[in-house]
Amino acid sequence: MREVKVTPIKNGTVIDHITPGMALHVLRIIGISETGVRSTVSVLMHVPSHKVKFKDIVKVEDRELDKSQVDKIALIAPDATINIIRNYNVVEKYHVEPPQEVVGLVRCENPGCISNAPREPVKSRFSVVSKSPLRLKCHYCERETTEIAKNLL
Ligand SMILES: [Zn+2]
Repeated sequence: MREVKVTPIKNGTVIDHITPGMALHVLRIIGISETGVRSTVSVLMHVPSHKVKFKDIVKVEDRELDKSQVDKIALIAPDATINIIRNYNVVEKYHVEPPQEVVGLVRCENPGCISNAPREPVKSRFSVVSKSPLRLKCHYCERETTEIAKNLL
C-alpha cells in the first residue's frame, strides 16, 4: 500500500486519532461548512493506524480551537489528540478528555425535557455514566443520551 503524504502545515491545529467516521462531525464542531472555510483544511478519513486499526485526521491551517470545541470533540472522538503547530513545529500536544459534567454542549434526547423548552433559558446538563461507550444522563429528566454526535449543540 502506498502511503499518502500530506503537506505539513505551518501554523494551525492537527486533530489526530479521530474515531473513524467522525471527521465530518469534527468539521461541524469547529465551524467548517461549505461556506465557512477561510483557511486550508485537510481531511483524511479511514487512515490505517498503528494504535487502532483506522482513524480520521483533520488539519486546519491558521486556527486554534477553543475549550468548548475541544470538549465536544472529546465527546465523539475520545481518543483524539490535539497538536498545535507553529512555524512547522508541534508546540503543544494533548489528549482530549471528556468533561465530568457536560453543560450546554449536547441536546437532551427527550423532547419534553425542560432543557429543550423554547421559553426556558435552561442549559442542558448531563453527568457521564459511562465513558466507553460514552453515555450521558440528563440532570433534569434522567433520560440517557447515547447518540452524542447527532445531538451536539
Ligand atoms: Zn433531559
